[in-house]
Amino acid sequence: DRPEVETIFACICDLNGVMRGKRVPIEHLDKITSGALRMPLSLLSMDIWGEDIEGNDLVFDTGDADGLCDFTGRPISLVDWTSRPAAFAQLWMRQEDGRPFLGDPRRALAAVVERFRKLGLTPVVATELEFYVVDPSNAVPKPPCSPVTGKRLDSDGALSLDELQHFDAFLNDVYDACAGHAIPADSAISENGAGQFEINMLHVADPLKAADDAVLFKRVVRGIARKHGFAATFMAKPYGDRAGSGMHVHFSLNDAQGRNVFDNGAEDGSAIMRHAVAGLLRTMQENTLVFAPHENSFRRLLPGAHAPSSMAWGYENRTVALRIPGGSPKSRRIEHRVAGADANPYLVLASILGGALLGIEDEWEPPPAITGDAYAQDLETLPPDWASAIEAFVRGQHVQQIYARRLQRMFVQCKLQELRRFTRHVTEFEYHSYLEAV
Ligand code: GLU
Ligand code: MG
Ligand code: MG
Repeated sequence: DRPEVETIFACICDLNGVMRGKRVPIEHLDKITSGALRMPLSLLSMDIWGEDIEGNDLVFDTGDADGLCDFTGRPISLVDWTSRPAAFAQLWMRQEDGRPFLGDPRRALAAVVERFRKLGLTPVVATELEFYVVDPSNAVPKPPCSPVTGKRLDSDGALSLDELQHFDAFLNDVYDACAGHAIPADSAISENGAGQFEINMLHVADPLKAADDAVLFKRVVRGIARKHGFAATFMAKPYGDRAGSGMHVHFSLNDAQGRNVFDNGAEDGSAIMRHAVAGLLRTMQENTLVFAPHENSFRRLLPGAHAPSSMAWGYENRTVALRIPGGSPKSRRIEHRVAGADANPYLVLASILGGALLGIEDEWEPPPAITGDAYAQDLETLPPDWASAIEAFVRGQHVQQIYARRLQRMFVQCKLQELRRFTRHVTEFEYHSYLEAV
């Protein structure tokens, strides 16, 4: 009901967390909100370059059939960086026979949330997204010039007020856009890397909304960065020698009375919290592919840069994968620090909540919490590279209890196709290193 809007971007989030969809004239808004819009089911499983997956039965066995796009119900709000007023409508996929399409990552998250609901529990979730603002004119990223001094940023250092203030105009627009899109943006900080920022979301008792917010947020930040003459990237490790960008997830569980069941009135957290921690640890290797879905993601998961490389938990410890933040027992929660900002928010939340659920259902006990520097300890590690993460996901006994077979298979096919293309590509660095040297 905004008369000035002429166009709706009707979009669905694919397995890689990329929004895909159509531009629809506002006159057809009804079609979108009534669930009558159609798009190919296979759009969900394209590879990162937007190409079909080889051997994908959705494309070839069905003649690339359409599915129906259900409206998620989120208020349609203005997009502010297009030449004329436009809006986003977030959708999810249903099959022709009316059943939810299980290959849709948003459906996967909804299924996990539903299992919690049956236990009388509601996950309360907040994401923290890190990203870099970069110079827009280079294929290889370079830190941007400060809009105030005109000088290129060159030093790393967290919590710089100067960096926050120099990018004030950009951040103001990001906050305005978040307000307009009902994205609950909370504080922003300048993160460690030159041009790196982090914006935290408020906690919401609706994981689907939290994931919707995150995908929309990434789109908003990239769009507004362009409007200000920069680019923004959520790639996990855009610079080999600077901090990577993570997507931390804070969560707790509320019972029917809205009481946090991780709170036992003390510092250490309840038995349910420990079971959730145990579930997260036991499923972490299998789920790493979801947290680190690309070749580049694994450059971030190296020791020493506040990104985890081993599987451990601890109180107030930023060197571990699972940190239990301090503070009042009422706000007792788990901070899951493994996912990169490049991961699909729906799948990240499905893997995290699904892993916690398995631990809670079977009352698993975690190993003791660790203290001190996790990087310096001999701990069990995450899969060291992308290929082993794919392998762990394929073989995983637990991911089968979290994801529908359809989604698991599509995701693996999608990742294998991406891996094949990387494997065949010889990099410039290899030519530089070996061409005439060996
Ligand atoms: N940038 C770090 C990462 O890659 C996280 C830093 C922090 O916020 O603790 O996950
Ligand atoms: Mg951070
Ligand atoms: Mg954090």
